[in-house]
Amino acid sequence: MRSISIFGATGSIGESTFDLIVRAGGADAFRTVALTGSANIARLAEMARTLRAEIAVTADPARLSELREALAGSGVQAAAGPDAIADAADRPADWTMSAIVGAAGLVPGLRALRHGRTLALANKESLVTAGALLLGTARQHGATILPVDSEHSAVFQALTGEDTAAVERVIITASGGPFRDWPLERLKAATVAEAKAHPNWSMGNRISIDSASMFNKALELIETREYFGFDPDMIEAVVHPQSIVHALVGFRDGAVMAHLGPPDMRHAIGFALNFPDRAALPVARLDLAKLGSLTFQAPDPERFPALRLSREVMRIRGLSGAAFNAAKEIALDHFMEGRLGFLDMAGLVEATLARLSSETGLGNAATTLEDVLGMDHLARVRANELAKTLQTDR
Ligand code: NAD
Ligand code: MG
Repeated sequence: MRSISIFGATGSIGESTFDLIVRAGGADAFRTVALTGSANIARLAEMARTLRAEIAVTADPARLSELREALAGSGVQAAAGPDAIADAADRPADWTMSAIVGAAGLVPGLRALRHGRTLALANKESLVTAGALLLGTARQHGATILPVDSEHSAVFQALTGEDTAAVERVIITASGGPFRDWPLERLKAATVAEAKAHPNWSMGNRISIDSASMFNKALELIETREYFGFDPDMIEAVVHPQSIVHALVGFRDGAVMAHLGPPDMRHAIGFALNFPDRAALPVARLDLAKLGSLTFQAPDPERFPALRLSREVMRIRGLSGAAFNAAKEIALDHFMEGRLGFLDMAGLVEATLARLSSETGLGNAATTLEDVLGMDHLARVRANELAKTLQTDR
């Protein structure tokens, strides 16, 4: 029986993973090692009971007794806090889903890779902050990382059986989010509620707002560069409002392989769960005649400056990804709490990168976890300081 763990089980990706596991037979088909969550204790306990997990862990140390109570009599162990989450990754599982949101997903992912098994990676932030370290750890321990971000799963699938030396370009698509056609002036006043309302995908709040600002696509461009290793000038993003084509790979003979599917993350998750097989998945089938047309447009770098900033990170690499992601997370916190305007998020990230670049030089190699966590911390401190100046300008 295959063993599995889900980090971030109570989130949007975690729920979709749970759904696929239950449909595939649940506790009769898989041995569940660890499930983790944070605030939603009732749901975490319910999932752990359903899959008869070995251990359930909440990120919030203050909620340990609540979790213990919710699991009473189930035989599932309970633990709490970031260290307990990382320790849960030390319990070997054949297949681990990394679906914590933000830089907090990095350490558990690295620990899981040390077992030399399979890590299904939804947590794009870990590739952005520490791509070289993550891939190096996988190589060192003979582990496999399978991309779960829909665009990267699409590129992976389009590359299967191909010679990567023949690849000329990689194009990932962006829906354009709820503000695709909003003029610059209107974007300045965009609210959190407006930014959360994604037209095509149902996702966690943070990634939904990142989609509206295109910071999500910026992270994904960096993720493409880190995971597949292609030169930055081979990688582009195109706006595709219908979210049916997820990515395209162009080869030197001019052929382009596209990956199409409905906007349902259970495809990419299911692909990673069943790889190298293709199992039947409960996703809607495309009806091209009904769709009628698929459209594409160039992204506007003026209204979506995150894309321009990501180019710098792809070029510099080193610790710039850790700084970029941390500054973005702080900018998002400030926007969500009403302290920064929508466009100020990119302004804050740019200012933080400029400050850190003169202070430390961001190109230094991110060879150890300490380097990455040190930069993550420093970038959060600087971003919070710089946010104050932006707020007073507001
Ligand atoms: P979400 O907000 O719905 O869920 C996040 C999960 O992480 C929850 O289980 C939450 O309890 C847990 N969590 C939050 N903060 C934590 C912390 N500090 N420590 C430990 N656990 C914590 O997020 P999501 O939309 O499911 O996204 C998860 C990851 O997958 C993100 O990296 C996101 O970029 C990526 N992703 C999501 C989608 C999508 O469709 N939702 C698509 C592609 C990639
Ligand atoms: Mg994506």
